[in-house]
Amino acid sequence: MNRWNILYRGPLSSCNYSCSYCPFAKTKNTRQELLYDAECLERFVEWVESRKEPIGILFTPWGEALIHRHYQAALQRLSQQQHVVRLSAQTNLSCGLEWLDSCCRDTVKLWTTYHPTQMSQEDFLAQCRRMDAMGFQYSVGVVGFKHELEAIRELRRKLPPHIYLWINAYKREHDYYTPQDLERFSRIDPHFSWNTRYHKSMGKSCLAGHTSFSVDGKGDVRRCHFIDAVLGNLYDGSFERVLRPRPCTNQTCGCHIGYVYLEELSLRDLYGEGILERIPRV
Ligand code: SF4
Ligand code: SF4
Repeated sequence: MNRWNILYRGPLSSCNYSCSYCPFAKTKNTRQELLYDAECLERFVEWVESRKEPIGILFTPWGEALIHRHYQAALQRLSQQQHVVRLSAQTNLSCGLEWLDSCCRDTVKLWTTYHPTQMSQEDFLAQCRRMDAMGFQYSVGVVGFKHELEAIRELRRKLPPHIYLWINAYKREHDYYTPQDLERFSRIDPHFSWNTRYHKSMGKSCLAGHTSFSVDGKGDVRRCHFIDAVLGNLYDGSFERVLRPRPCTNQTCGCHIGYVYLEELSLRDLYGEGILERIPRV
């Protein structure tokens, strides 16, 4: 049985932070909208519980999910399932962490991001230390702004050596980095160069749509977050007939959660079991 890597993105769209570079709409969800998001999540959790395949899940919300009790409860519940082999969530790590204590340490591994304009480095590192003390693994990421280079170096120095610090390249400005900048950031994140490019993907083989797929709140299944065509639905079972290898139909792929499935990059060798939470083997 193939392991499925599922990227879940429900209707939640609000965040407790307001980063200037945020690629997502900054909204404030109403109580009603949050209830609907919780209903969608409950349905997804029930579906996962009903399956037998090995499943890995990365929650990739439009905003911050882990400050909400329903996401915390979903992780607690799913981490007790034998066939759920990995659970991760993209998070700014601003939530309280007590709820994590009842999650399985082998299954839950978080994708955390540090946002320097929203939290002090000291406070973020204190959260990391709490995670360490509780025995959870996680990756830490930042956006590679040149004016933040010193602060990023400092973060690297202060994080435990075994915690991977990834840097997302700032790609909105063409030629933003000089070769020297690229070298400086690569000294901090040895895998930085993968993220500095939009990988040519048109016609190339990608596992998104085969062993990895994305699911929205209604259960609509797409091969990834970057191609809008709906392949089928999770809840009527129609998605299963259409999961198969197929070439990419976009010109390029520039986001880690997408290009790691482009076969010619062989990034599955680099990330192995840590592909969802972005923890490389080396
Ligand atoms: S924490 Fe993430 S989702 Fe929230 S505003 Fe910042 S970049 Fe956007
Ligand atoms: S290469 Fe990127 S855009 Fe193309 S199918 Fe794969 S994940 Fe989607």
